[in-house]
Amino acid sequence: MPRSYVHEARRRVGPKRERVRPIIERLRAVHPDAGIALRSRSDLELLVAVMLSAQTTDVNVNKVTEKLFAKYRRPEDYLAVQPAELERDIFATGFFRQKTKALRGTMTMLLEEFDGRVPDDFDDLLRLPGVARKTANVVSAERGRPVGIVVDTHVRRLSQRLGLTKQEDPVKIEQDLMRLVPREEWAIFPHLLIWHGRRVCIARRPLCEECVLNDLCPSSRVDAAPAPRPELSK
Ligand code: SF4
Repeated sequence: MPRSYVHEARRRVGPKRERVRPIIERLRAVHPDAGIALRSRSDLELLVAVMLSAQTTDVNVNKVTEKLFAKYRRPEDYLAVQPAELERDIFATGFFRQKTKALRGTMTMLLEEFDGRVPDDFDDLLRLPGVARKTANVVSAERGRPVGIVVDTHVRRLSQRLGLTKQEDPVKIEQDLMRLVPREEWAIFPHLLIWHGRRVCIARRPLCEECVLNDLCPSSRVDAAPAPRPELSK
């Protein structure tokens, strides 16, 4: 895209600081059901489901965990079977060998250092084998204590299209978003972008004509509307 066009598009929609609240409000209105799609009934199940969700879909994980959580209820249960059995039980989520190793390492540390419970502290979560920043972020946010903003492929794409970041690296994108998004919205914000990314701002073919953000988005393929935006003129 020519630089002059990008510049004009950014000028048309206005500063990102002024757009972020209307973006959140409109997305909340059109996706009132936005939230984590992974099913869990405890902190341990949440942690396991998020660990299994790497490189696969939430639907796929939910199918696997429906049986898994009936069989493995406590950290000890993951260590009571041979690794090959756990590998078979999570096979359908892909990367089953690495995930089995991570699950067994995590369960061992939970038992040895945290009394068999999922720790509250973000840095403790990050010490668990196979738990990277994204997993720790999701777990903390779902427990009502977000310490950052989850950046997945949808969050990355939409943040860039909406002109909220120019970065490519997920950690730098997260830093940009944390400076921009009000703290009380850190937990819901990624869900709003993820659901909008799945339903409207699709990777290959964004449905800009149907998008409630098309007058706030510098990447919109819809011609700029001449009418002023009431939220921005307040
Ligand atoms: S206007 Fe188009 S590019 Fe922008 S957020 Fe909506 S669907 Fe995505």
